[in-house]
Amino acid sequence: MRPDLRMVLDSGPGQAYLLRRGSGAVLVDTGIAGQGKVLTEALRDWGLDRESLTHVILTHWHPDHAGSAAELAEWPNARIWAHRSDAPIIRGDGYGSIPALSHAEEGLYAHISGSIPDAPPSRVDRELDDDEILDAIDARVLSTPGHTDGSIALHFPNDSVLFTGDIATEHQGQVILGPFNLDRPQAGASFRRFADIDVNTVCFGHGQPLSGDDTALLRIAATADEVPDPLG
Ligand SMILES: [Zn+2]
Repeated sequence: MRPDLRMVLDSGPGQAYLLRRGSGAVLVDTGIAGQGKVLTEALRDWGLDRESLTHVILTHWHPDHAGSAAELAEWPNARIWAHRSDAPIIRGDGYGSIPALSHAEEGLYAHISGSIPDAPPSRVDRELDDDEILDAIDARVLSTPGHTDGSIALHFPNDSVLFTGDIATEHQGQVILGPFNLDRPQAGASFRRFADIDVNTVCFGHGQPLSGDDTALLRIAATADEVPDPLG
């Protein structure tokens, strides 16, 4: 992967991505609870420290994405941003609904969800709107509801990077609709939003990132006759 981008938590559920910005860094998702130490080490590898982390953007409330938000909210300069539909759940002011599982998803969900600790409630400093432009981090919100109501992808056009969140997943070299959706048809429609995104790097909530020519796999999947959904 390119030197200014790092997948921090590459084992188990929950991946987070650090994007370097000069003497600062932006984090997309946080993994499960308890990742402060590994994130500190990742920043140190770049010669940065905790004070360098300026923004933590959560693609949705699920505890394998927002799990360490509460811990990172205590860091000196970290602002926590999430879509307004998921923000109350991240704050602990509401409960998130359990996904509408297909038969094929049920066993896998029971296995995975049992291994993920609850996310401690976290401050959310800014609630993001649909398709908002985020000048402070030079990014654009892509609303992708259906996985959760407030699911987002993040497009950094000048960095040529897309973070899909869980609406898309890399699985065995293919790009598929992410599983465990609140509203599968809505998630499918959100997945199609990636049809015209042209970037050099695609980072998924789960699975390996794509770079260079391989990023075409996302556009191919998003324009297929049927949204690729092996567990649907
Ligand atoms: Zn999720």
